[in-house]
Amino acid sequence: MTKPLVLLTGASGFIAKHIAIEALQRGYALRCTVRSLSKAEDVRRAVTQAGADASGLSFVEADLLSDAGWNEAANGCEFVLHTASPFPIQQPSNPDDVIRPARDGTVRVLDAALKAGVRRVVLTSSTVAVFYSGEGSDHVYTELDFSDETRIELTPYIKSKTIAEKTAWAFVKSKPNAPELAVINPGFVQGPALDADLSTSHELYRLMARGIYPAAPRIRFPVCDVRDVAAAHVEALSNPRAAGERFIVARDDTGLFELGQALARECPDLKSKVPKFQLPDRAVRALALVDKRMRTILPELGLHKRYSNAKVQAVLGLKLRDGETAIRDAIRSLRALGLI
Ligand code: NDP
Repeated sequence: MTKPLVLLTGASGFIAKHIAIEALQRGYALRCTVRSLSKAEDVRRAVTQAGADASGLSFVEADLLSDAGWNEAANGCEFVLHTASPFPIQQPSNPDDVIRPARDGTVRVLDAALKAGVRRVVLTSSTVAVFYSGEGSDHVYTELDFSDETRIELTPYIKSKTIAEKTAWAFVKSKPNAPELAVINPGFVQGPALDADLSTSHELYRLMARGIYPAAPRIRFPVCDVRDVAAAHVEALSNPRAAGERFIVARDDTGLFELGQALARECPDLKSKVPKFQLPDRAVRALALVDKRMRTILPELGLHKRYSNAKVQAVLGLKLRDGETAIRDAIRSLRALGLI
């Protein structure tokens, strides 16, 4: 029997490689987009080392900022997993550097999917597209909440993810015969890195291991494990109840200081490098007067966002790993790869 063909965008990414492993193991064949075919071998190697059969992978070149290649990439595919989007460790000075590829790339992928008669698209969004609607501190965020991208204090990345997801929903609502859409909204993704091509998820530890953060601001974020994020994407391809739905994938929350503490626990030789204390909020506000990068975290200081992950468990049947395991396995993988 021929395997259902799935277009996987941004296959060189951290999350996408885990999705590729999960999808291959569940009997799909994958046509992978990469910006440069020179990355194809790295993806094949990572997938093979994880025990999946890389013969189910093929590769094509496509950039979110260009029309070239997308129609050919989607042609003959039954499903699309759209993960590609910039996730920079530092916010760009021009917000369009992240917003354009996120938004215009999503339209290109959906347009190609529509022309190819794709059945369902699963889009990688984020909890940042959920948590910034401006609710009060007692609000429990669910899949009903959408961030408000017009809030000027939001970072370009938060805006990019919110705009891309809203654009995708508007697209499928407005086009007759559009593919079904399901959206995965992960928190800060932890779990094992597969190779040295690090995402922001892991790059943070490399910076900490160099002693770049002597102290950490009091900001918190939801956390999840990449293996659960991958399972959610692949389950959402075929689960009849996933069509038209979005799913928060996160369990527990953490902060920069705690990530440093976990790093010191797993790698005692790095204890002197990790943040030593939490910066008082007033110190961060003072620093933000001179350091523009600090301004982006001001609205986050001291906030504790509550959320529900009930839907992904009830509808997609996932039992999420706890945050501590996800963080520990991220750090252990970096040590095993010799990157910290
Ligand atoms: P990576 O940086 O590892 O992956 C990003 C992928 O997007 C890479 O394959 C990259 O290609 C591709 N990409 C970036 N810009 C373009 C472009 N202009 N054209 C084509 N491809 C492009 O990050 P993650 O795996 O962590 O992130 C994957 C997705 O998950 C993103 O949508 C991100 O927003 C989302 N996400 C991530 C979270 C996390 O904590 N990691 C949390 C929530 C959501 P290349 O290799 O060529 O650079």
